[in-house]
Amino acid sequence: MLDINKVRADFPILSRTVNGKPLVYFDNGATSQKPQIVIDAISNYYQEINANIHRGVHTLSQLATDAYEVARGKIQNHINAKFAHEVIFTSGTTHSINAVANGFASLLKPDDEVLVSSLEHHSNIVPWQMLCEKTGAVLKVIPMDENGELIMAEYDKLLSDKTKIVTVNHISNALGTVNPVKYMIDKAHEFGAAILIDGAQAVPHLKPDVQALDCDFYVFSGHKMCGPTGTGILYGKEAWLNKLPPYQGGGEMIKEVTFEKTTYADLPHKFEAGTPDIAGGIVLGTAVDYMNSIGFDNIQKQELELLEYATKRLLEIEGLKIYGTAKEKTSVVSFNIEGIHPYDIGTIIDKLGIAVRTGHHCAQPIMNFFNIPGTIRASFSFYNTKEEIDVMVEAVKKAQMMLA
Ligand SMILES: *Cc1c(COP(=O)(O)O)cnc(C)c1O
Repeated sequence: MLDINKVRADFPILSRTVNGKPLVYFDNGATSQKPQIVIDAISNYYQEINANIHRGVHTLSQLATDAYEVARGKIQNHINAKFAHEVIFTSGTTHSINAVANGFASLLKPDDEVLVSSLEHHSNIVPWQMLCEKTGAVLKVIPMDENGELIMAEYDKLLSDKTKIVTVNHISNALGTVNPVKYMIDKAHEFGAAILIDGAQAVPHLKPDVQALDCDFYVFSGHKMCGPTGTGILYGKEAWLNKLPPYQGGGEMIKEVTFEKTTYADLPHKFEAGTPDIAGGIVLGTAVDYMNSIGFDNIQKQELELLEYATKRLLEIEGLKIYGTAKEKTSVVSFNIEGIHPYDIGTIIDKLGIAVRTGHHCAQPIMNFFNIPGTIRASFSFYNTKEEIDVMVEAVKKAQMMLA
């Protein structure tokens, strides 16, 4: 069982006030808060071992390099990658997806097909559009239904020998839908297509097992799972990472450079040009340890309770509609109130100390599907409470009265 008061005490920001009211932080889908152990680990790094990695023979450089590689190993274990060198440090999900999409430019021909889902974040749409523009490949979209679930019968029909890569999020940031990724991975492989899973919204809630999933790529950001901003992971199967050309050229990613020809370093360094966010990578390891110390069973139990409670309480409000009613859902409630713009609600409840996201959540195609400008999105983390949900519900009612 989660000792919620103890957990909340790990997060110093949760005890601050905003606009004179205790902070109620329900924008975890955008970024999570950071526990003290993560905050301390950042300053410890700079106080104790700051040096560039992989370069010097001096002691500090070796300490920093070792700590960085220990973190890589922690992430390898966490996602159950077969090899540590399949775990590439990036600056985040966006960087990871761009690295893969860019690599596929050398593999696609005109009329090849790229399948994206209709539930994607812009960062899992735009890089693939750019790829298609560059190569003449065709972008196809897997449709969804009114509940915000992808339609698997349509997915099956879209797959063909022309499909070269499929890309889908594990969990939707806008609606919270948990997608049937295992089914989608196996189906893609039947057609010889690669598949990338955007795990940005999954890693705060679950521990992905990339070998059990058998996905070709799995990407996520550190900052949504209690880690620092500017950190992320690109997991790729060894064979794929060897096949794809590097994304960026520069220091650290080479074996030998002459003006005639450069040969690239082995994995993972081939994809890690330049000085990385060394502190960030190390501290992402700390964040993973922290989340495991809380335990994903505990996290899921707490978040499911919050989801069910918030759904029930919000539906008491007249004219309120929830978008995203998938059977498999994480702790995200996206909603609107009839006749009121989401931005107006968000602005009023911010005055009451409540942080929610309003707008299209970087997923405009989903808003277009529902024919709305955006939603109010409350996304809960394991450190949130039912009392905070009560505060939000009362605030939304108050906003509704003021705006009616
Ligand atoms: C946040 C998010 C991204 C983008 O992550 P960045 O950290 O901004 O690179 C991509 N996909 C999903 C599903 C997200 O939630």
